[in-house]
Order: sequence, then structure tokens, then C-alpha cells
Amino acid sequence: MTEPAAPKKITVLGATGSIGKSALDVVRKYPGRFEVIGLGAHSNVALLAEQVREFQPRFVAVSDPEAAKHYAALGLAPTLLCGMDGMNALASEPVDVVLCALVGAVGIHPLIAAIRAGNNVAVANKEPFVMAGEVVMAEARARGVSILPVDSEHNAVFQCLQGVAKEDVACIHLTASGGPFYRRDRESLREIRPEEAMRHPTWEMGAKISVDSATLMNKGLEIIEAMWLFGLPESQIQVVIHPQSIVHSLVEFKDGNILAQLGITDMRFPILFALSYPDRVQCPMDRLDLTRMQALTFDRPDFSAFPCLRLAREAAARGGTAPAILNAANEEAVAAFCGRRLPFLGISEVVEAVCAQCPPVFHVDLETVLDADRQARETARRVMENNGSLMSWKS
Ligand code: NDP
Ligand code: MG
Repeated sequence: MTEPAAPKKITVLGATGSIGKSALDVVRKYPGRFEVIGLGAHSNVALLAEQVREFQPRFVAVSDPEAAKHYAALGLAPTLLCGMDGMNALASEPVDVVLCALVGAVGIHPLIAAIRAGNNVAVANKEPFVMAGEVVMAEARARGVSILPVDSEHNAVFQCLQGVAKEDVACIHLTASGGPFYRRDRESLREIRPEEAMRHPTWEMGAKISVDSATLMNKGLEIIEAMWLFGLPESQIQVVIHPQSIVHSLVEFKDGNILAQLGITDMRFPILFALSYPDRVQCPMDRLDLTRMQALTFDRPDFSAFPCLRLAREAAARGGTAPAILNAANEEAVAAFCGRRLPFLGISEVVEAVCAQCPPVFHVDLETVLDADRQARETARRVMENNGSLMSWKS
């Protein structure tokens, strides 16, 4: 394995989450290749403290103010940055790459802070891209920083697009496992509980993305994420159900050839690729054994059982702040579902109602996006409070 001359300096925002932990495991496997400069977390002080002892970063950010007090009381050495301002300050510390792995729209300010500071960013946290992809890409272009996709599908597409002219691309095929309710009809999903929705068949992930995978909203968000990352219109991004999650995505070229990226379902692979880019490094982890692989199947998505995919496509086609409205409504609805205040089928109903009630604006800058996000959240809460039939679920 060739060692880089100096270790790559990295900061991990969301170190205590599923992606953050996988990223630190990658770092652990490559002594001397990466140096952890900063770790950011929200509330999991116990895990963060363990990570700090092991990786000895120079800076730590804890965004939840109460948790920050608990962390401070431990008296661990590195500089502590508190609250969301602290997370933004951490993102701005100069490094080779900031891994953005917070969950939800809260990641938007740290992502923009990292880019404005001239840091390259490896992006797992897709919601800021969905809300404000245009703004984020413009900031990145202005600062000449690289955006490296970590989301497995986008990482796959990014790999297939290396050395490719954009005009040669006919379309992208994003693969979706179909989630835990693949092939179920909508009526059969009426009584689904959070713990069932969070049980993903092929990936181990945080709660929010697991629920998004169960509604297929995750794939809808990924269509919008791909539009911005690869500069393609919604019409050139297809979704195909692939329950084995071995083919992570495909690029179809205008001459009819298709390139795919394959691998096991382990986020450490796309994380390693993004953190090492543009190098490829020898991998010590178990990899795909083609001779032991089961049949690979591909299927059309069922838009009637999973309306979130249709709603996301509609928001993507509308543009402006429509994706930000969709994302905010979905975050509110998923939080209510996880808190047993909304039934599973209510998620798409809330999103649909909010998208119908909040007209998008088509002049997009950070302020208009944040405004749209705020208004959509208020509307979602009102829809949930006022609509008794949505709340009819018994926990
Ligand atoms: P997790 O829920 O596992 O982790 C989220 C991280 O964000 C934790 O470190 C958490 O801190 C922190 N966090 C939570 N709430 C807040 C908040 N209000 N303010 C600041 N920080 C907060 O999520 P995942 O790791 O699963 O996902 C992270 C992102 O990556 C998501 O956007 C997801 O869509 C995307 N992604 C995830 C994949 C996966 O395999 N997990 C795959 C592809 C994309 P704490 O725990 O300390 O409270
Ligand atoms: Mg994905």
C-alpha cells in the first residue's frame, strides 16, 4: 500500500452517526493515511468521548448545548466548539476534506461554511443538496473546491463518470433496494410501526434515512441530489429497483453502452473512495465475491404504493424552492412518524398537502431556501394538527 507523503487531514461532522462511525473505522484501518483534525456530534457525548480518546482530534464540536456542557465536564483536551455555531466553526477549520454526515437540513450551514473556507467536502448528508443544490454548487465553483459524493448511488455514478464527457451521457440509473416493504400494496402498509420501517433489508443506517428508504422518499431525494451533483435534468435520472443492492448505480451512454459499479453493502467502500480521491488505495476489507453472488434482478418502482417517489419527481421537475419544501415536509412527517404521532401512510399525505399548499419561488438563494424550509415546516405541523384522519393511528 503506498503511503501518502503526509496524512490527509479530515474533519468528520456527524462522527457519532452511522456514516461517521463507518468513516472512523476507515481511518482506523489506514494508520498514517488520515489525520482526524475535527469531530462534530450533536448529543451522543459518551461515544464522542471514546472517539476523541482514540483519534485525538484538535477540535471537537457539540451542537446540542446541554450535551456540550456534559462534554465540557469530562475535561478532555481538545478545543470544544459549542452549538451550531461551533459546528460551523469546526467545518471552517482548514483540512483536506470535511466529511458532511449530519442528518437533515441542519447540515446546510456547516456544509456551506466548509466550502466557503475552501475545504473539499465529502457529502453523505443529502438533505442540504436537495434543499439548495444550486446554491451549494455555485459556492463550490466559486471557491474551486471538490464535492465528493458518499451516498452509495452517487459515489457509483461518480466512479462511472470519471473521464467521461457530459454530452455522452444518455441517463443515470439510480438503484433502489425497494426497502422493507418492496412488493407490498399501499393498503397493507396502514399499520406499519417505526421499528418495522427502520428494519432495512440490505443496509444498516440511521433512523431517518431508514424510514426514507421504506417510503422510497430516499430515492426521490437522491434524484434531486444527482441532478445537482452531475448537472443533469430530472428527465435523465431513472430509478430501478434492485433488491440485492449489489449494483450501486449505472450510467447509460448515448451509444447504448451501460457502465455499472458493484460492491457489497458496506458504506466504508464509498467513504474510502471519497476520502482517498483521486487515489485508489488497497482495501483490507472483505469484498464482493462474484462467484458466490445470487441472481441480480431489476424491477420498476411502484408509484402507487410509494407516492413519495412521485412527489419528489414532481418537486424536482418544478424546481425553485419546491425541493426544499418537499424535504422540510418530509423531515417533519418522518419525525412525527418516529415519535408515533403520525401513521406510516401519513408521511406521503403530509408531504403532498404541504407541496400543494406552499407555492415555490423560482429565484433561489440561501435566504429563499431557508424561508421555504421554515414555511413548509410550519405548514406540515399545521396539517398534522388539523387533520384528524392523519392522526388516527393507534400506537
Ligand atoms: P445518523 O442518524 O446515524 O447520524 C446522524 C449524525 O448527525 C449523528 O452524529 C448525530 O449526532 C448528528 N445529528 C443528529 N441531529 C442533529 C442536529 N439536530 N444537529 C446537528 N447534528 C445532528 O444518520 P446517518 O449516519 O445514517 O446519516 C447521515 C446522513 O448521511 C443523512 O443525511 C443520510 O441521508 C446520509 N446517508 C446515510 C447513509 C447510511 O448508510 N447511513 C447512506 C447514504 C447517505 P448524535 O448522534 O451525537 O446526536
Ligand atoms: Mg443512497
